[in-house]
Amino acid sequence: MAEATERIAARFAAVETPATSTSARELAERVAAVDLDAPGVGGEEVLREIDELVLSEAVWYHHPAYLAHLNCPLDVHAVAAEAVLAAVNTSVDTYDQSRIGTFVERRLISWVGGRLGFPAADGVFTSGGTQSNLQALFLAREAALSGLAGAQRAARQQRLTILTTAESHFSIAKSALLLGLADDAVRSVAVDASGRMDPAALQTELDALDAEDRIPMAVAATAGTTDRGVVDPLAAIGAVCRDRQVWFHVDAAYGCGLLVSPRRRHLLDGIDQARSVTLDFHKTFFQPVSSSALVLRDAADAGRARWHADYLNPEDSAEPNQVDKSLQTTRRFDALKLLATLRGTGAEAIGRGVDAVIDLAEDVHAVVAAHEELQLLAATDLSTVLFRWQPAGVADHDADVLVGQVRQVLQESGRVLVARTVLDGRPCLKLTLLNPETAAEQVAASLEEVAGAARLLHAHRAGVDDAVAEEAAR
Ligand SMILES: *Cc1c(COP(=O)(O)O)cnc(C)c1O
Repeated sequence: MAEATERIAARFAAVETPATSTSARELAERVAAVDLDAPGVGGEEVLREIDELVLSEAVWYHHPAYLAHLNCPLDVHAVAAEAVLAAVNTSVDTYDQSRIGTFVERRLISWVGGRLGFPAADGVFTSGGTQSNLQALFLAREAALSGLAGAQRAARQQRLTILTTAESHFSIAKSALLLGLADDAVRSVAVDASGRMDPAALQTELDALDAEDRIPMAVAATAGTTDRGVVDPLAAIGAVCRDRQVWFHVDAAYGCGLLVSPRRRHLLDGIDQARSVTLDFHKTFFQPVSSSALVLRDAADAGRARWHADYLNPEDSAEPNQVDKSLQTTRRFDALKLLATLRGTGAEAIGRGVDAVIDLAEDVHAVVAAHEELQLLAATDLSTVLFRWQPAGVADHDADVLVGQVRQVLQESGRVLVARTVLDGRPCLKLTLLNPETAAEQVAASLEEVAGAARLLHAHRAGVDDAVAEEAAR
């Protein structure tokens, strides 16, 4: 363990680029060459192998030029707790397997509940936002079908719908499929120009469902959409849901860090009206993967996932079994990491980190807006930057083709990692900023690499087009 710590510390100290330029083919070959059937080589040797094989090729999320996805740098107390929980190997399922772990997880869930404005919260840690959303919608489905069985239950299930926006995470639609809802169960509510759910359009959709004899099973709003990083108007949506008595789910996988933000907590106003909330601590609480939770306003809803087994949690068991609230059985003790962060670093300092990242995004937006060759495409509440390389005179089509090429060329170099997505039907580049220690100048330098790569690719393309035209003319 001590040697592993030393090696990883040495690697961190030596990181120069967020990734390497080794080709995918080479990486696949190196891994294929590992002999998994040979006699064991022992601890020292295996650490050397891991160092050489894996650490030398890792993608480093803390690097200032890692700008691609929702991966955060880490709070070191949580990393230490990760080692502790791996060594102790607690499974937080039944009480007799976890004892104090049960109470630690419960305390963390109720702390989060307190921040959300749920005095009687319950919930459970999960493997990620995808699973948290699935479980939220599963509980909402069970609430909508409660008391029914057989053909009646099956018939009603086919009438259930989920109202969300086209900007919500794909796990919402995937959950609908997994839950056996009808093919057209997910309805997109219109968004305003900035990508936020329009509460008036939600009313209209709910009226339309009534007219079709369909049942609104849940409204799934997003607090921090994955692309634009905007927060749906939670208070207004919550009011509609309360009026219509519809399950209000908030996917705050990305936006959950706002809960501890000294300056931006107001962006989550209205979240206390939700019945279920998804939070990814491995995005904006600087936790190692995995750490997520589904938190419920009413403890009674947690029981909708309960299932009994004689060998585990028999019906007559009076013990506080976390497995009763989870889709998983054997389950990681991720709550310990969040405890380590809240005690070691403190909630307020975490919140300042979140604010710093959002301040950084504001500065980077200004850099892009002022750049001659780059176009800033959307505003954000959180920390994404959506943009395109398109100097005056470059046609839309050419700029669009370059998006994927620029991303790929940079990724192959290992020097700057950016993501791509589609906004209003056109491809664009995307940065997700999550490192509070990154400076705007560092991101500006990465943007120059983006522009430089685009310029080169564009010139090359134009050259090729000219050659083709010449050839045709001849
Ligand atoms: C990342 C994300 C998810 C999925 O979370 P995972 O932890 O990757 O499973 C869900 N919703 C939103 C809004 C996200 O940004």
